[in-house]
Amino acid sequence: MNAPIRVRMTAWYLALLACVMAGVGAFVILRLGADLTDATDRSLRPALDQIATGYAREGFPEFHDQSATVLADERAGSQILDPSGRVLRSYGDPVSITPMLGPRDTPHLGARPVIASGRLKGSHFRIAAEAVTRKGQRQVVVAAASLAPVDRSVHRVLILLLLALPAALLATAAAGWWLARRAMLPIDRMIGTAEAIGPADLRDRVAVPATRDEVAHLARTLNTMLDRIQLGVDAQQRLVADTSHELRTPLATMRTELDVSLRADELSPPARQILESTREEVDRMSATVEDLLTLARSDEHSLRLADEPVDLARLAAEAIERLDTHAQRHGVAVIAEGPPAWTRGDADRLGHVLRNLVDNAVKFSPAGGRVTVRSWTAVGEVGVTIEDDGPGIPEELRERVFDRFFRVDRSRTRMTGGSGLGLAIARAVVEAHGGHIAVQRSQPRGSAFTIALPAAPAPGPPRAHAAPVFSHRAGRS
Ligand code: ADP
Repeated sequence: MNAPIRVRMTAWYLALLACVMAGVGAFVILRLGADLTDATDRSLRPALDQIATGYAREGFPEFHDQSATVLADERAGSQILDPSGRVLRSYGDPVSITPMLGPRDTPHLGARPVIASGRLKGSHFRIAAEAVTRKGQRQVVVAAASLAPVDRSVHRVLILLLLALPAALLATAAAGWWLARRAMLPIDRMIGTAEAIGPADLRDRVAVPATRDEVAHLARTLNTMLDRIQLGVDAQQRLVADTSHELRTPLATMRTELDVSLRADELSPPARQILESTREEVDRMSATVEDLLTLARSDEHSLRLADEPVDLARLAAEAIERLDTHAQRHGVAVIAEGPPAWTRGDADRLGHVLRNLVDNAVKFSPAGGRVTVRSWTAVGEVGVTIEDDGPGIPEELRERVFDRFFRVDRSRTRMTGGSGLGLAIARAVVEAHGGHIAVQRSQPRGSAFTIALPAAPAPGPPRAHAAPVFSHRAGRS
């Protein structure tokens, strides 16, 4: 994964700043060296002129006097060379004892001073020279001044820059990081809000900062996009709700008409069979339409729920009773156990959820199998766990079975007649009650569906019992 944008921004900013500072530092050092050398030249050139004029006019004593007067700098020296480059006289620093110019340089010199840098006995000097004529003989006067003070100044500034550069970079990195963090804060907040917006609560919007910049523009664009998505989702939910609602009446009419037709005695056996199978299909369609309507209402947050004390243990017992024939037909034993488990909510809807779960457990258990429906209480929570010894649900699909129209094995569930909406409804209803539902593996095989809801006090005077209040057995055992 790439580093966060603020890290990359700070790194780029630092790299750029380091280049700029290195460039500026190099320029300052070079400029300082050049300026200080110029200053040395400005005093060395007239000094050489003066020594050369004095020597040309009055000879060696004047050369000495003038040198002593004008070469006051630390480590300065002067000398007179004959045309072959030998030293005739010298003054000052010991470097002037030997020729300060090479023999090849002397013939090219004229009466105007020529100036250059050079190394004399390992030290850095500025050397100026010009030709003079004394008693008809061409000679060369050389003066030199040490560049050590220039080098020292340049070195000191270089050290200062080398110390200041990392410190400045460090301070800039901290400030850059802080600025980048501040700049990214509204975006981080937007990401947090956008991540929390799911299909269940499309109503939320990201906060638009009170600025007129790109971040505010992005927030407005995201909100407009969410508006459009919500319009589409709302329209789709309304379509499902309206269609389901419209289908309810004709289906109920069809069912009544089929019931009336089936009551007639003169029906031939094949006609009766067709009518009975049609009625079964109509029943199934009515159940699916009811399920779709429940889900559409839950999506619109308009699922109406009663708020009354509900004993989940009693609801489970009732569900088992209603599915007794169904369980017997499958040859599955259904066992209920556990203490009363009081919560508050809608008994009809919760009863429907439990019937769905027990119905699934029976449907998916093999003949001779066993389903256990156990109510339980815990701290602040009550619930029911339905265990079967059917094929179970692969771990990777345990979340997906709660999706609408999801079936693990389509061919098998087609035979069992499921629509794939039962568990989606169970989740919607349980969550609307502030609870949760999950499936786990049952031991040694099969699945264990658990619904958990907030606990509520039992209505009426408190009863002193802890043992199971009922134990119900249904089906074949
Ligand atoms: P259906 O109407 O198809 O039973 P559900 O939403 O109730 O729809 O269940 C979704 C799918 O979850 C089922 O088709 C089935 O594949 C799987 N399922 C549900 N309950 C069980 C169970 N007790 N054992 C194994 N698989 C189950």
